[in-house]
Amino acid sequence: MVIDWEQVRDEVTGHLQALLRINTVNPPGNETAAAAYLASVAREAGIAGEIVEGAPGRGNFVARLAGGGAGRPVALLGHTDVVGVEPEHWTHDPFGGTVADGYVWGRGAVDMKNQVAANLMVLLLLKREGVALGRDVILAAFADEEAGSRWGAGWLWEHRRDLIDAEYGLNEFGGQPVEVAGRRFYTVQVGEKGAARMRITARGEPGHASVPRRDTAMERLGRALVRLHEFAPPTIIVPQVARMLRTIGAAGGPEGVATVKRLLAAPGEASLAALPLDEQMRAMLLATTRNTAVPTIVRGGHRINVIPSEVSVDVDGRILPGEDPADWARQVQAAVGGEVEVELLDGAPGVAADPDSPFFDAIAAAMDDEAPGSALLPYVVSGGTDARLLPGIKVYGFMPSRSGEDIAGRMHAHDERVRVDDLLFATRCLYGVVARFCAA
Ligand SMILES: [Zn+2]
Repeated sequence: MVIDWEQVRDEVTGHLQALLRINTVNPPGNETAAAAYLASVAREAGIAGEIVEGAPGRGNFVARLAGGGAGRPVALLGHTDVVGVEPEHWTHDPFGGTVADGYVWGRGAVDMKNQVAANLMVLLLLKREGVALGRDVILAAFADEEAGSRWGAGWLWEHRRDLIDAEYGLNEFGGQPVEVAGRRFYTVQVGEKGAARMRITARGEPGHASVPRRDTAMERLGRALVRLHEFAPPTIIVPQVARMLRTIGAAGGPEGVATVKRLLAAPGEASLAALPLDEQMRAMLLATTRNTAVPTIVRGGHRINVIPSEVSVDVDGRILPGEDPADWARQVQAAVGGEVEVELLDGAPGVAADPDSPFFDAIAAAMDDEAPGSALLPYVVSGGTDARLLPGIKVYGFMPSRSGEDIAGRMHAHDERVRVDDLLFATRCLYGVVARFCAA
């Protein structure tokens, strides 16, 4: 049967609108309402599903299309909770699911009820088309991603792993088109950095502020912060980033290949800057070729006329896959000097999936159908997703967008919206990947 994509456009748009009209701002979340919507649509289509609550109101929805057991399942992942809004800054009601000017508007339109709606549509189409599956296809719509995933991916992985365990997963991020040397690439997230949250504390003699002193806690912290900003951490090229660089190099022909070869032989900030990338890509590349430590919260002092005995700054540290949080904290300590103390508050390793896999190849083949001549660009993201909580699943971030509009800039922002055309494009692509890879 030939799929009527015009009809799918209306259908998937309707599902996204329905999800946007369910307020799942986290906290408190109330994701069970969104899970109930997904469950009712699945049930009507004859797809088995289950709402699983880690806590009251914090519902996850998991559905499964059974396959022949020729391989472990593929999971379409997503989260139904969203961040809060300041409605006075919105053109349309953030919970209205309005369609206007070619967009669906609402909180969650790109982060990430759009992908949840597309995932649902993929399952509906597989069922409707009667695609014979060689392996199971799972849909998982998690709660609580925006506030730590305690009741979502993490909870399910711990308590109901049987429901979501899979060989491969598709999740948020990735899918952005980028031009490299005149060729269109779609990014695929193949890894994400881990965390190493730190606190730098400086101590010194307190005193009355009417009498200036030297070497106060404040001065020590000031010096430490300057040293932290001047600190140039070593360049580290993890295999996933090396693969990205080689892809970029190959796009530039023999000269590009040679440039990347030189870069990989002697990686450094200067050689990375020589790559033919736009500003945004360059900043992302810098952030994913080193561990980072960025100061964000300052604490100290309690009266304007008292020199404090202790001041501190919290540091958002991020480490590449394979790097150790404690080790990074020690390097930061060495960089800021012994007059302050660096304490590791908490840490978690990064995660990475191999871009050399049959599933990755299936994504490439599906994209060649939907966007002929395009290719994939694997990359490591500097932030984090639910993937870190699903260590047994090879998770790729892939939500393709044809327009290339600044999706990342709309996440958590006012007037969050997605192009209806992009939603349909993503649905077609994701269906193509899953049907191709999972068909018996
Ligand atoms: Zn998200």
